[in-house]
Amino acid sequence: MSLVCLSLTGRTIAENLAVLDLYRGQVDAAELRADFLDPSEKFIIRSFPERAGLPCILSVRRKMDGGQFAEGEGVRLVVLAKGLAYAKRDKRANFAFVDLESDFHVPAVEEACRTFGTRIIRSYYSPKAMPKDLDAAWTATAFASDEIPKIAVNCAGANDLASLVTWAEELPKRDRIVIGTGEYGYPSRILASRLGSFLCFTSAINAGLPGAAPGQIDPETMQGVYRFRSLSKSTAVYGLAGGPSVVGSRSPALHNLAFDEVGMDAVYLPMPARDAASFFAAADALGLKGAAVTVPLKESLLPFISELSPAAREIGACNTLLRKGDGWEGHNTDAAGFDRALKEFLEGRELRGLRATIIGAGGAARAVAYVLAAHGLSCLVVNRDGGRARALAKDYGFAFATSDERACDLVSDHADLIVNATSVGMEGGQAGDPLSWYDFTGREAVYDLIYKPERTRLLSRARAAGARVCNGYSMLRYQAAEQFRIWTGQEPPSAYYR
Ligand code: NAP
Repeated sequence: MSLVCLSLTGRTIAENLAVLDLYRGQVDAAELRADFLDPSEKFIIRSFPERAGLPCILSVRRKMDGGQFAEGEGVRLVVLAKGLAYAKRDKRANFAFVDLESDFHVPAVEEACRTFGTRIIRSYYSPKAMPKDLDAAWTATAFASDEIPKIAVNCAGANDLASLVTWAEELPKRDRIVIGTGEYGYPSRILASRLGSFLCFTSAINAGLPGAAPGQIDPETMQGVYRFRSLSKSTAVYGLAGGPSVVGSRSPALHNLAFDEVGMDAVYLPMPARDAASFFAAADALGLKGAAVTVPLKESLLPFISELSPAAREIGACNTLLRKGDGWEGHNTDAAGFDRALKEFLEGRELRGLRATIIGAGGAARAVAYVLAAHGLSCLVVNRDGGRARALAKDYGFAFATSDERACDLVSDHADLIVNATSVGMEGGQAGDPLSWYDFTGREAVYDLIYKPERTRLLSRARAAGARVCNGYSMLRYQAAEQFRIWTGQEPPSAYYR
């Protein structure tokens, strides 16, 4: 099992100790990032391990390695010496580890470490790009046999994550740390055990400290959402494929809670990817068993799927993958999720004969159209790209319009139910209101597929006019329950219905 280390990036020792206290039950070690300390604090670090009361790492990271230290090597040597000198007989009062770079070899420092029981982490940093030859980077680490080699390299895409995972799995068994930094390296942190890492670095982001390195996760999220301490090399991995915004999705909390509830040794984690090919490279490297798929990969991954479920084929979009032998089965659970969420929202009201507007013509809008057509609603599709609106409307015999004020009368005529299936107003996406040119009367029921933020501008405006409104969190839960059924063959547990 990998240890959880909290990287402390406060400006003072007192601030770092106070933050450490907030996380005590969740971390096994603390890293004092002396490069973040105020100048006067850098020279009083010696007492830190004793006051912290758990194994501590001393790091004074240079700017060139992605740190904050800019004062030159002479000063850095003094800071390191201040931290390591005057060792106490009780080793718990000394730094348990010190982070020294592969090009930093000062015999006096190394000798002091060995004498006082401080273990050297020998680090190779590549904060801007993944080295072409990871074997050469490993060799360049030039670690001694009693040191812990650490490789922290930037993943500029899911392809880099795939290369790093494949490479790490071939490394000889020994204490080591392998990290892919940046958002595309995110899974390498959660899967530290899988990569054979001795520990995983986390940041006190929820407590307001700056992240110590790009992609670091708060210990609360690590344990609460990903159940980090229960993960091992044999844990089954499921992923959420999509753009970088997948890192903020609420679906990992849902699926991991469900895996826990049924006692499955499995984890579900965000896997940002720019394109379908790089996602599948990472999926193969990690031996992914299944995945959820979101913007912008829903359509581009279709050519990689060997078999589509009837619903996914009819809808023309796939949001769920299940590994089948060497290939992938594609499913659509958005439709079932929306169906259930809609019935709940309308509290059993008769749907047949209602008149509805669907805003959007992408993958999610296709699932919405499929459900509304099945219930016999008369619909209008409005979309920024009028051609896409027409193509979707044609499949179901719906009306269509380009999304602007000229469509106002048409929307008024299809206003029993209004469903937003665009990404406009989504956190991290395009701000705004996809129906800004329409004045709500208050008689509409408005369902927005977006659930983050909880209330979009569209929903706020509709609510202010007196309309019934609901965000997409109910759909997220119900479509996720369907994913669970597809991935595991078991009935979804209560996690999805709370
Ligand atoms: P998609 O296939 O990429 O479609 C995006 C849609 O948004 C298209 O209709 C697009 O219009 C429109 N759009 C994007 N940017 C726009 C802008 N600046 N102005 C006007 N229209 C814009 O994405 P998707 O998979 O359908 O997802 C759409 C939304 O539904 C996302 O916010 C997603 O998070 C949400 N969703 C929620 C759930 C849930 O469970 N709650 C499930 C699935 C999806 P064009 O055709 O003109 O580009």
